[in-house]
Amino acid sequence: TVVYQQRKGSSGKWGMAEDIVKRFGEECGTPIEKLKKVAEAMVFEMNKGLASEGGSKLKMLISFVDNLPSGNEKGMFYALDLGGTNFRALRVQLGGKEKGVANVESEEVSIPPHLMTGSAHELFDFIATSLAKFVNSEPEEFHPPPGRKRELGFTFSFPIRQTSISSGTLIKWSKGFNIQDVVGEDVVGELTKSLEKIGLDMRVAALINDTVGTVAKARFSNQDVVAGVILGTGTNAAYLEHTNAIPKGHGLLPKSEEMVINMEWGNFCSSDLPLTEYDQALDAASLNPGEQIYEKIISGMYLGDIVRRVLLKLAEQADFFGDNVPPKLRIPFILRTPDMSAMHHDTSSDLKVVENKLRAIFEIHNTSLKRRKIVVELCDIVSVRGARLAAAGIFGILKKLGRDTVKAGEKQKSVIALDGGLFEHYTKFRSCMESTLKELLGDEVAKTIGIEHSNDGSGIGAALLAAAQSKYSGGEES
Ligand code: BGC
Ligand code: MG
Repeated sequence: TVVYQQRKGSSGKWGMAEDIVKRFGEECGTPIEKLKKVAEAMVFEMNKGLASEGGSKLKMLISFVDNLPSGNEKGMFYALDLGGTNFRALRVQLGGKEKGVANVESEEVSIPPHLMTGSAHELFDFIATSLAKFVNSEPEEFHPPPGRKRELGFTFSFPIRQTSISSGTLIKWSKGFNIQDVVGEDVVGELTKSLEKIGLDMRVAALINDTVGTVAKARFSNQDVVAGVILGTGTNAAYLEHTNAIPKGHGLLPKSEEMVINMEWGNFCSSDLPLTEYDQALDAASLNPGEQIYEKIISGMYLGDIVRRVLLKLAEQADFFGDNVPPKLRIPFILRTPDMSAMHHDTSSDLKVVENKLRAIFEIHNTSLKRRKIVVELCDIVSVRGARLAAAGIFGILKKLGRDTVKAGEKQKSVIALDGGLFEHYTKFRSCMESTLKELLGDEVAKTIGIEHSNDGSGIGAALLAAAQSKYSGGEES
């Protein structure tokens, strides 16, 4: 590069920057035919994952949830929600058909980063202690009658091989967690140990994934819901499958007709995915190289860092921010997706938000408007690719369910429940995802498909499923 620098003047450098951006944009391209191929590959992998354990990169995990909320659930239930950047404890008051989810109280704590890669007991002791504090604030009128235990739904949003509705072992970590001594262990057992240590007497009635909670919560008030998708720190989907389409469950599954399947779609991979050198470098440097490839180009944990990596390349090879590379550009994950979103949504004519973010995050001063425009363009390229691929995944599920066509005379409606910070807060991501799904479905079919925000599905859904599994009244009052 030194030789190159001497040969080319600054206009040459600008040309190089433009080339880098142009090539990146092309490599991230997601024309509709490509998305259709991705959806087909998704369906293919879904079938393989359902056929046999380990048959596909898509684990297609059996959730043991065959009984979705009917809307009649009543009583007070606790929930724990672990799996994103924050950890939450909830107290949920269910009032049956009349009152629905009558009241929700919750407490949110951000997980100290050292706990994400520490030891099992440190993490579970932290969870148990936070829960105990929260239970202590329980109003007296909600105290359970003597002899009755408090019941809890535990949302643990990592791939779990369930052994029952209330137990399961961790297959692997994702999203920046990496605590080796939990892998292969029953996470409910771990939690129960920590609860006993501090003398908190609670029964874990349900262990669920956040996608399963999202389906449950949405289903409580809308029976057309067929799938739940999380677009947050990580990404994943769960949907309702006919038990006769789950060959690997033969003889193992309860005799119900339907079963919620946790796809773990974050681990999807296909030669049709548009991957770039930046994605490869991000993957190689991650805690789980080679895994969660679809997640790494879609979800909130990673989008900002992809943008950062391209900016670093621009700085290194095209002197994009001056003669020196701003050192902060080298810090992984320093550009968070919410900041990327803020820059992407900057509507000021001189891109003031972008200017301020670049200064605050990277200590980059005096950027020109044409450079700030490129920053916005990079945010657009990365988020559009993620949003369109997420839409292709949803289209894949609808295809698998035969709901990607309308049969004459049939009035079938299908609703997909969504939750997660990316979906909730990154407006351009969300609208691109929704419009791409329409594009894939075509106008006529699109009219039969609904997208619904299942607000706090991962928390409230866990309480609902705990109610459905309650030891006391089955959670339902007759
Ligand atoms: C996990 C899933 C989870 C998703 C969304 C992924 O990293 O593997 O279990 O549902 O993130 O939170
Ligand atoms: Mg929410």
